[in-house]
Amino acid sequence: MRNITFATNHPLVLTGARRVGEPEPVDVLVRDGRVSAIGASLGVDPRTERVALDGRFVVPGLWDAHTHLTQWALARRRLDVSGARSAAEAVALVARRVAADPPPDGLPLVGAGFRDALWPDAPTAALLDEVTGDVPVVLVSGDLHCAWASTAGLRFLGVTHPTGLLRESEWLPLQGVVDHVPDDVADELVADALHAAAARGVVGVVDLEIADNLAVWRRRPTPPVRVRAGVWEDYLDRVVREDLHTGDRVADLVEQGPFKVITDGSLNTRTAYCHDAYPGTTNHGVLSVPPERLVPLMGYARAHGLSCAIHAIGDAANAHVLDAFAATGATGSVEHAQLLTDADVARFADLGVVASVQPEHAMDDRDVADHHWAGRTGRAFAFGALHRAGVRLALGSDAPVAPLDPWAAIDAAVWRARDGRDAWHPEQRIDVLAALASSVDGRPLGLRVGDPADLAVLDADPLVLGASVGALRGMPVSGTLVAGRWAHRTL
Ligand SMILES: [Zn+2]
Repeated sequence: MRNITFATNHPLVLTGARRVGEPEPVDVLVRDGRVSAIGASLGVDPRTERVALDGRFVVPGLWDAHTHLTQWALARRRLDVSGARSAAEAVALVARRVAADPPPDGLPLVGAGFRDALWPDAPTAALLDEVTGDVPVVLVSGDLHCAWASTAGLRFLGVTHPTGLLRESEWLPLQGVVDHVPDDVADELVADALHAAAARGVVGVVDLEIADNLAVWRRRPTPPVRVRAGVWEDYLDRVVREDLHTGDRVADLVEQGPFKVITDGSLNTRTAYCHDAYPGTTNHGVLSVPPERLVPLMGYARAHGLSCAIHAIGDAANAHVLDAFAATGATGSVEHAQLLTDADVARFADLGVVASVQPEHAMDDRDVADHHWAGRTGRAFAFGALHRAGVRLALGSDAPVAPLDPWAAIDAAVWRARDGRDAWHPEQRIDVLAALASSVDGRPLGLRVGDPADLAVLDADPLVLGASVGALRGMPVSGTLVAGRWAHRTL
């Protein structure tokens, strides 16, 4: 039941389009949502809309293989107040945001990251009230242990407080209140987030939000880009009852995604499940879904036409997950795959399991890895080894953990460097073509007649930008087509 539909729309031809690594420009004809011809100076019907690319680059549109969309949509609205060196500076940041981009009616402006320990002035509700009036404002501290609210913000939280600075037990029970958003508001914020993604050349995302994603995506209006919505064990029954297989249409531009299971923890919390103990301890991490549960789950998913996306971060967890892929014959991906033995790198290739990796996490966590995985980091975030072994990589952000922008992931995979630092294990770098190819859902970079017209138009040559560290992060994107329609266009 593979029945993705492509709305009929008027044909267009992209003229003077360059493809990465190819010297000669071509025309690309788009009809009925697909690439219908590629060639030099295509003769087309005069009614076909012509869009002159003048030598701009066309690549298959980008995918983010791992997102939590609702969480990301909320997080990207949060005001970053981490740079404030006083209460007055934080208030100035709030004032600017409220004037430029106030929160939707009935919702608070949420800010994050303030550190008041060394501030010369005291954060109070009254200070915020002077600039925010009736707009509820809640600022959460960098360590999450306190919050500073305006009077309207306190009202939103349902409390009264003498100063507006809620500490520890005053604040912790209220954390969930600022995360709760009515469905219609969440849906609007998600649409905004996907429009922003389209402006970076994104044509599709895998949504692994912990939610009843089938119900969520049937409720939402048609998204601007494709969504592959994963299913969790708690919601698996309905997907099976409706006989939805991975790849089946759920709604316009939305398809059933993989079955998601989390088998271990994370590096930062030292719960990633590893062969070796964490330094100075006997702790190997946590295997929350052991093989005797994982194998039947994956077998069940496979029997019902679902591919599997299995979270494994530590090397021992990855070994168990690869065993389970081998035992069940399931298809799919390991999500994160952060620490791997050499033998398991080869097993990824043998089993055809995709390594769904988030290169920005390597940049965020390199110091933590150097500490907690001391002596093992040569095989951490081993993109180079995986690529050389012939493993298919799928790059992603795990937004909101990292921002949803594939160019950041590509740059991190190519350079393994950020913030002016030296490359971290440069032997695990991959080249620009490999990083791009790992970001386009398996499509050939040179485009292919018959493929969906999911295309990104770039103002710069990725190979040229990719020669300078950090430059790919700023890749200018002037157009994004999804199924032959513009999801983003500045041309
Ligand atoms: Zn995730």
